[in-house]
Amino acid sequence: MAYAVKEVYFTLQGEGVNAGAPSVFCRFSGCNLWNGLEPDRAGAVCKFCDTDFVGMDGAMGGRYLSAESLGYSISKVWKKSCSAPRLVVFTGGEPLLQLDQELVDCLHGLGFSVAIETNGTMLPPKGLDWICVSPKAGAPLKCIQGDELKLVFPQIGLEPDFFQDLDFNNFLLQPMSGSNLVANTVAAAEYCYVNPNWLLSLQVHKFADIP
Ligand code: SF4
Repeated sequence: MAYAVKEVYFTLQGEGVNAGAPSVFCRFSGCNLWNGLEPDRAGAVCKFCDTDFVGMDGAMGGRYLSAESLGYSISKVWKKSCSAPRLVVFTGGEPLLQLDQELVDCLHGLGFSVAIETNGTMLPPKGLDWICVSPKAGAPLKCIQGDELKLVFPQIGLEPDFFQDLDFNNFLLQPMSGSNLVANTVAAAEYCYVNPNWLLSLQVHKFADIP
């Protein structure tokens, strides 16, 4: 299978339970909840996206013709001086439009743990080491178990209560970015105070100014 990749880069995970972990991020092009074009945002299922996942023009972006070629590039991007366990985070866009068993197996063979950040509308391949699901209002949730449920908050019609009985090990509220970030952060923190099974997730990479 060929893979359309926006960018591949080494960084620290910026959010969620694994914040601070050295990681290679592999961002696939494309999403099933928005085409990524501003004129079409208002009509999209997911309207608050802050990620550029269109095209293949980022660092190490391009069309990779095999799992081996993409795996090799991911391996090459890992910082040589970093002795932390090797971790690749597949994100997007929606990574499950493209991530398949062959690529997961290939990365395992190269010594990587494999994580995904998905909107949960598709089922993942087997053997993933970390599944982070971020549900979106108006998008039916199919992936109902994993390691981390990270809910961008607030979303009209998508209350945290809906999810707390699902089979996830961690529940996180992440304030929606944008012009209401401060108010959203206060509201998310207030929710976490009275619902301590939910933890606050902040996008550390944004204020640390790392990719
Ligand atoms: S599901 Fe994720 S990648 Fe897709 S439009 Fe929404 S926030 Fe962006």
